[in-house]
Amino acid sequence: MSDLDSARPEIGIKALSREQISRLIEELGEPRYRAEQIVRWLYARGASRYEEMTDIPAGLRERLAGQLPLFTPALAALQVSALDGTRKYLWRLADGTTVESVGLPTADRLTVCFSTQAGCAMGCGFCATGAGGLTRNLYPGEMVDQVRLVGEDFGRRVTNAVAMGQGEPFANYDASLEGLRLMNSPSGLGIGARHLTVSTCGIVDGIRRLAKEPEQFTLAVSLHSAVQETRDRLMPGVRRFGLTQLRAALIDYASRTGRRPSLEYALIAGVNDSDAQLAALAQFCTGLLCHVNLIAANPVEGLGISRAEESRVSAFARELTARGIECTVRAERGADIDAACGQLRQRL
Ligand code: SF4
Repeated sequence: MSDLDSARPEIGIKALSREQISRLIEELGEPRYRAEQIVRWLYARGASRYEEMTDIPAGLRERLAGQLPLFTPALAALQVSALDGTRKYLWRLADGTTVESVGLPTADRLTVCFSTQAGCAMGCGFCATGAGGLTRNLYPGEMVDQVRLVGEDFGRRVTNAVAMGQGEPFANYDASLEGLRLMNSPSGLGIGARHLTVSTCGIVDGIRRLAKEPEQFTLAVSLHSAVQETRDRLMPGVRRFGLTQLRAALIDYASRTGRRPSLEYALIAGVNDSDAQLAALAQFCTGLLCHVNLIAANPVEGLGISRAEESRVSAFARELTARGIECTVRAERGADIDAACGQLRQRL
């Protein structure tokens, strides 16, 4: 059974996958193509009421409205960064649950960082979301709506979306994949699969499953340390998957897909920024098709995390490059509104 089969009725039609909408349409005795029309209305056109779906027969619209309410997340709060125009959104969902998304504009791109769960059970030591625990899994339409509504707010087409907001996408695998598929579909948001990234803290089963999916979604893994003991402390939720197992899954992913996963590494002063940590990271990456993204960790109030010196970030970048390992130092975005990685909470 897919985790989508237990969709909650009060969430309405946004809880359903395309397949579930098709099945429902068939059960109602309607032709299958109606399902695609409905998906287009929901996501490509952003209908907020069934009445707007003018090419759907009125009788069907009424039956759907009676069975499956159509909700659009409501904006509960918005913060705009004075530094770089990054916007952080707090959405209220159909059942009152709140989640965050972030819009990151540049001259030629609009990237949306969306949440796959409200809260998170993984408990990463550097993360404000993890500190609050898990409220619930999100449904596919709730993920697509975050991306769609951020695009609407900016008045621009969303070029990239990353499942890097609240939650661990592989702890909600089926719904996250369906969300990405709807974002990719021309009846959904029409974003190219390679511009859709799923980011995991290292759930090995999920990486192995993703490697077998037909779409070319991009994979990012939060590594943060290649020393087992440090990683276990920083990311207790993935303790059961050792670094050897993780590395083997990444090799398998790269060889099956021919794609290069990114490894995220946030440098925390005195925790994972030493020369010994750098040597372990270099060793982990040697012989692995990957791209390392380095960033100085974002301080999170109450978690005792302090940012590594810029000189350490540069030392890591220099050494990895010298060893032929692809890496980029990432610019921090939205730090003045706590919108950077690890800083999202379920309130603004
Ligand atoms: Fe969850 Fe990601 Fe935060 Fe870890 S970093 S606790 S996986 S939201």
